[in-house]
Amino acid sequence: MLDILRRLVQAVTDADDLDDALTIIVTRIKDTMQTGVCSVYLFDEQAERWVLMATDGLNPNSVRIASLGKTEGLVGSVGSRGELLNLDDAPKHPAFRFLQETGEEIFQSFLGVPVVHQRETLGVLVVQQTTPRRFSDDEEALLVTVAAQLSALIAHAKISGRLHLHTASGEGSKDVHFKGVAGVSGIAIGTAFVRTPPARLRRVKDATTDDPERELIEFQAALSEVKSELRRISETLSAHLQQSETALFDTYLRMLEDHTLSGEVCQRIRSGETAPTALKHVVLDLVARFEAMNDPYLKERATDLMDLGRRILAQLLHENLGALQYPDDAILVAEDVTPVMLGEIDTASLRGIVSLKGSANSHVAILARGLGIPAVMGAMDLPLSDLSGAQLVVDGWRGEVVVEPSEAVLFEYRSAIRDAEALATDLERVTTGPATTADGKRIHLMLNSGPFGDLSKRQRSWIDGVGLYRTEFVFLSRSRFPTEEEQVLEYRNELQTYAPMPVVMRTLDIGGDKSLPYFCIEEANPFLGWRGVRVTLDHPEIFLTQIRAMLRASIGLNNLRIMLPMITTVEELRASRQLIERVASELLSEGCAIQSPDIGVMIEVPSAVYMADELAREADFLSVGSNDLTQYLLAVDRTNARVADMFDVFHPAVLRALDQTCRAARAQDIPMALCGEMAGDPMSAIVLVGLGFTELSMSAASLAQVKRGLEAFSMADCRALAQQVIQCGSGQEVIAHVGQAFVARDLGLLLPPRLRETLQVESV
Ligand code: PEP
Ligand code: MG
Repeated sequence: MLDILRRLVQAVTDADDLDDALTIIVTRIKDTMQTGVCSVYLFDEQAERWVLMATDGLNPNSVRIASLGKTEGLVGSVGSRGELLNLDDAPKHPAFRFLQETGEEIFQSFLGVPVVHQRETLGVLVVQQTTPRRFSDDEEALLVTVAAQLSALIAHAKISGRLHLHTASGEGSKDVHFKGVAGVSGIAIGTAFVRTPPARLRRVKDATTDDPERELIEFQAALSEVKSELRRISETLSAHLQQSETALFDTYLRMLEDHTLSGEVCQRIRSGETAPTALKHVVLDLVARFEAMNDPYLKERATDLMDLGRRILAQLLHENLGALQYPDDAILVAEDVTPVMLGEIDTASLRGIVSLKGSANSHVAILARGLGIPAVMGAMDLPLSDLSGAQLVVDGWRGEVVVEPSEAVLFEYRSAIRDAEALATDLERVTTGPATTADGKRIHLMLNSGPFGDLSKRQRSWIDGVGLYRTEFVFLSRSRFPTEEEQVLEYRNELQTYAPMPVVMRTLDIGGDKSLPYFCIEEANPFLGWRGVRVTLDHPEIFLTQIRAMLRASIGLNNLRIMLPMITTVEELRASRQLIERVASELLSEGCAIQSPDIGVMIEVPSAVYMADELAREADFLSVGSNDLTQYLLAVDRTNARVADMFDVFHPAVLRALDQTCRAARAQDIPMALCGEMAGDPMSAIVLVGLGFTELSMSAASLAQVKRGLEAFSMADCRALAQQVIQCGSGQEVIAHVGQAFVARDLGLLLPPRLRETLQVESV
């Protein structure tokens, strides 16, 4: 059975389009179950009918013609109730409805199972037989299993084929929505410019040469042409981006100069391969190595390498070398949009980006954010071949693409664009100086600093320091552990940049979704495994070196605070503190003028919430990592798109855990911070202040809106709202309460567009 299923799933995956996929399904099932008929009906949302989409056994001319109303007939009954029906004498069933065009009167027995994807019934899979008999339990189980296995494939094929279906009927489809993930917030309307990869490495046929010298010359010429192209693009982009952002192109140039790539290609050419063959093998091998890495940042390198490899190949094959012709309101669409593709289009003509692969962390998303270009990533169902020249809306807030929007939808999006512009103008008026509530109470806004981007002067005036410096970046960008000296340089730079303000440096937090290429951690459940302080306590040599580097870097500045990730027990805090104190006394005895830093604990696992009293007694500050705390409290993997809707920081369980933690910190009179994404959302920031958080640490992009929100609420307002929402029964209730409080203060623009719609906030 498993084998039958596997082969069926593979055949459907390889199908050209929806019709092809459905035909494969019905013929294979009919053969396997040896029945008279197998058919698939899919629900057409517009017509509100179950339409016969494929059949093996009924009249083939009735495909796409025969249909049943939402609750009509046996199919409607299975589809609308979402439950299977197994009947030995179907015509006797009260719901039976005879469909003349299918010639189905001769079939007595009927087994129909719903095809359900993400709680939605997409279709009904039916088998029928002329003889009156009840299908056996085994047959029932087989069809249910097939339907469950195929539901995601049908969902994908249906969405991908949708444009095709409509254009085939000559109607001209409107408002076809495709889901992806939010890459860069904002909305863009424009014309699809579909970029196909310059050349395909996998298509290169292996070939040998008897003139390696000529191949070497051609390879070097192609390489230097790609390098000049990269330099040109980098120069053009540098007019719009910060240097740290275009530094990516230097990395590409280094990758091309790196001996691993060009050296290996040359070696293979010398041993008799043609340049394209040698290039294919070296690049695909490197790509496979990067793809196998767990770390999302390093996985990205695979995309970069593939793109560079294709560009060199295009030069070698003299393909696609003409100037690109793109519309002046271009939405760049590609299977995997790369930073170089982005750089090929004049920024004045680039409105938005849609990539079928990638996430908000992809390099291209980071660059697009710097350029202020809305992007949707991971829109994997988008049918690339049908899109060229189509009008698109890129909704970077919701992570959605609308193809051929209707006038009504365009009207909505245009007003959303006006709202966003109004918000940007409003945020420009946020005054310099620290954040306060409406009644003048000081709130410490802190920065989650990262490798990209510097603060403007205005932004700097809003912060009271760095609330989270993730030291993983120092470790991730190398091919071995950084030395003490290397770490001192990096940490000194960070401490100096923000001195005299405090900088909270988190000790190495690897494991979970972050693993180092040179220190692989392979586990079945990485988020519940060897992570954060668990790793560094097991490897004191790594921990001690890091602490020595931090303490040495802070000499004369004395603005260092050390924070420990993933603390689960009080013993872990004690053991870490002992090691830190050991390093401090060693350094003192070596004559280094260091000061003992404050040591804080991250509250990011449920046990730490329940032990917050004890932890607060022994720590100098507490800081909630709400990204992980939410993941562990709600048992929702923060990286799993399938359960992303359940990742809810407004869940009352999360709010109650925060309340309990805050009380513990208050009892010991120590600072209580939060440094997860939650701190950067104005709605949650108000609630956090009301619960008693004294420091909110967020990325630079969130500072203005949080400051703006806080200025409109007095401390008493925040407290009252917090007390109200922790009593709520669901996250949705919490959001509604907080949303209304924003609307009442004329702050509707700070709310996400969907909530604005629900609360019926007027657009500007
Ligand atoms: C968190 O978990 O909220 C946090 C700030 O740490 P990270 O996202 O790096 O795990
Ligand atoms: Mg964390």
